[in-house]
Amino acid sequence: MSQTFPAVLIERDETTKTQSVRLSEITLDDLMAGDVTVRVRHTTMNYKDALAITGASPVVRRFPMVPGIDFAGEVVTSDNPGFVAGDAVILNGWGVGEVHMGGYARFARVRGDWLLKQPAGLSGRDCMAIGTAGYTAALCVQRLMALGAKPEAGTVLVTGASGGVGSFAVTLLSALGYRVAASTGRPGEAGYLKALGAAEIIDRAEFAARGRPLGKERFAAAVDSVGGQALATVLGQMAYGGVVAACGLAESFELPTSVMPFILRGVTLAGVDSVMAPRPLREAAWALLAERLDRAALDRITGQTSLDQVTDVAPQLLAGKVRGRLVIDID
Ligand code: NDP
Repeated sequence: MSQTFPAVLIERDETTKTQSVRLSEITLDDLMAGDVTVRVRHTTMNYKDALAITGASPVVRRFPMVPGIDFAGEVVTSDNPGFVAGDAVILNGWGVGEVHMGGYARFARVRGDWLLKQPAGLSGRDCMAIGTAGYTAALCVQRLMALGAKPEAGTVLVTGASGGVGSFAVTLLSALGYRVAASTGRPGEAGYLKALGAAEIIDRAEFAARGRPLGKERFAAAVDSVGGQALATVLGQMAYGGVVAACGLAESFELPTSVMPFILRGVTLAGVDSVMAPRPLREAAWALLAERLDRAALDRITGQTSLDQVTDVAPQLLAGKVRGRLVIDID
């Protein structure tokens, strides 16, 4: 009989169409197919994990499910030629925590081609403090750079700035020499955002009203993790030739905009996805983080929670009450 180990389990009652979440005990036999088994040491809570745990959005598409779209740990057994026992590895996305059992457990079994070697210069805990949120911020910043956004072109706006993606976007852009404006609904976090490198704090209420299709040209580039009216307003305030990297929907998945920013100012709206991002993009994003992320900023951004607290913390995260990022250590 296999030994049991702790795991958060999301189960669904098909009769009542409701889900329940509990800290349970499972065995290696309960894990899904894969060619690499990993002893998970750290995981994290992302916006999507909070959606999975609360059931606020149907991100879990297989039950029972172990949530956790990110994890870091070491390989225990491998039938994959790319990995041997003892390798330090990380995983972000690929449907893990949605359709394949994820990181909120002592062990995970996954496909080796979903794993990356732990980036040099970052610990497993650092990687989970960064997590999908930080790695997505890096993808957004690289997208802006690939589309020609230069520090001398003007201010870069970051929306949802006190959240996970936003915090990393602020600190990375600042480290790369951009002047950063941080949009937040939490004026009390101005000190935190300035310490991460924001030059200017903007009340997100400024982007809340549906205004004219084009406004004053304020920003050369933007990283947006909120979508909705905020993104629509920001598009109308981009300077000529401006670029927006859009990755999130913390406000809304809708986008009530017009074609005016695109056809009169040549604005580019670039979508960023982390879940299925190809390996070279992932490796480049993690290399940027390992090289340019300010370690003092990483400490400021990082908080802590635990497997037995995730059901309490998830609704707070969705309500925009969590600052930065939360790491979960796995015993
Ligand atoms: P967080 O909850 O940590 O941050 C979201 C932030 O958005 C909040 O902290 C808050 O910032 C702001 N916000 C919350 N509610 C609203 C609202 N109603 N209107 C405007 N702003 C709001 O989440 P993450 O940073 O982890 O993720 C942000 C978004 O990015 C999510 O939608 C997530 O699903 C998405 N995402 C997408 C990825 C992809 O692959 N495309 C990968 C990772 C995340 P403040 O208080 O400072 O205003």
